[in-house]
Amino acid sequence: MIYADNAATTILDKNAFEIMKKYLLEEYANASQPYAFSREAKKALSTARETIAECIGALPEEIYMTSGGTESDNWAIKGLLEQHDKRTTLTSVIEHHAVLNACAAIKRLGYAVDYIDVDSDGVVQPHMLSSRITNHTKLVSIMLANNEIGTIQPIKQLCDVAHHKGALFHTDAVQAVGHIPIHVKELGIDMLSASGHKFYAPKGVGFLYIKKGTPIYPYADGGSQEFGFRAGTENIASIAAMATALKKYCTQMQQDTQKLKKMEQILLEKLNAANIDFIRNGGKNTIPGNISLSIKQVEGEMLLHRLDLKGICISTGSACNAQNTQISHVIKAIGVPLKYAKGTIRISFGAQNYEHDAEIVADALIQILNPSLS
Ligand code: PLP
Repeated sequence: MIYADNAATTILDKNAFEIMKKYLLEEYANASQPYAFSREAKKALSTARETIAECIGALPEEIYMTSGGTESDNWAIKGLLEQHDKRTTLTSVIEHHAVLNACAAIKRLGYAVDYIDVDSDGVVQPHMLSSRITNHTKLVSIMLANNEIGTIQPIKQLCDVAHHKGALFHTDAVQAVGHIPIHVKELGIDMLSASGHKFYAPKGVGFLYIKKGTPIYPYADGGSQEFGFRAGTENIASIAAMATALKKYCTQMQQDTQKLKKMEQILLEKLNAANIDFIRNGGKNTIPGNISLSIKQVEGEMLLHRLDLKGICISTGSACNAQNTQISHVIKAIGVPLKYAKGTIRISFGAQNYEHDAEIVADALIQILNPSLS
C-alpha cells in the first residue's frame, strides 16, 4: 500500500508511541493528584508544554492542550463572544469546516460573521482583508495553510491588517504545524490551532496557542486543569507523544521539505510528460507534499476508487452521487473551471513516503487516465 493522504492523518511516530506506552502502562497517575506517583505525569505535562512552546516560538503558559484541531478552532471562535462590544467575526471562504461551522453556530446566536473571498491560488491578499475589515471586527480567523490545496497564507501581513483595526487574529494552523517553520511572536498571531494527528502524533490531541492577555473565556468549565481554562483530566500519554513528535518533525523539517518537494516535482513531471491535462491548484507557496490536481474530463471519485484498487490512498475535492458531482467549497472558491473541477484529487505525501512512491502514484494515474501510454 502507498499511503498518500497525509493531510487527512499521519502515521503515529514510533518514538511518540513508545512515550505513550510509558504513560499508559507505567506512569498512569492523574497529574492533578498531590502524591509522589503523580510527579512524573505532572513533569511530562510541563515538559510537553515547554517543548511545544519552543517549537512555535511561544511561552509555555500560552499553550493550552485540547482534543485536536476542531476543539481548538471552536474555542478560538466561540471563546471571545460576550467579551467585546465589537461583534463581527471575519473569516475566509476556504476555511476548514471546524471554523466555518463554528462561525455558523455563533451566527445562529446573533453574532455577525463576514466572509472574505480568495484569489485563484487560494490566497487572501492583505488588500482583500483591508477592504473588508471594519471598526466592528472583533476577530479575524484565516487559516495558515489550506487542507485541500495546501496554500500558505501571508499570515504576518494579514495579522498586521487585523491589528491595525483593533481586531484579534486567529489562525487554523492544523496543516502547517510540524510542516513549515512557525514563530507566533514573529507572525504576531493572537491564537493558533494545531492538531497532533497531522504531525505524526496520536488522534484526539492538539493545542491552542493563546497569546498572554487575550480576553478569552474558558472552553470547558470544571476542574482547574490548563490554568482553569480547559477542564478535564489531562491525556498525558497523548500530550507527551504530541510534544515528542512535534520536536522531531520540527528538527528534521528541512530534510523532509527537500524530499517532499522533490516528490512533487517527480509526480508533476511524469504527468506532464504523459500529456495529462491538469491544473495544479494552490499557487506557488504550498505545504510540502500537498498536491491538489484538477484533471480534465474525469471524476475525482472514480480516480480515488481506481487508485484504491491499486493500493494507493488519496483524497478527492469532489464527491459524486448519481445525479450530480459536488465540488468542494475550496475548489469552487478558487474558480477551477467545471470540466477540471470534477476531476480534483489531493495527493499528500508525508515523512514515510519516498521518491519511488511519487513515481508509482504517477504511473498508476497515467495508467488509469491514458492506458495506451503504460
Ligand atoms: N483544520 C484543518 C485545516 C484540518 O485540516 C483539520 C482536519 O482535517 C481540522 C481543522 C480538524 O482537526 P481535528 O481532526 O484534529 O479535529
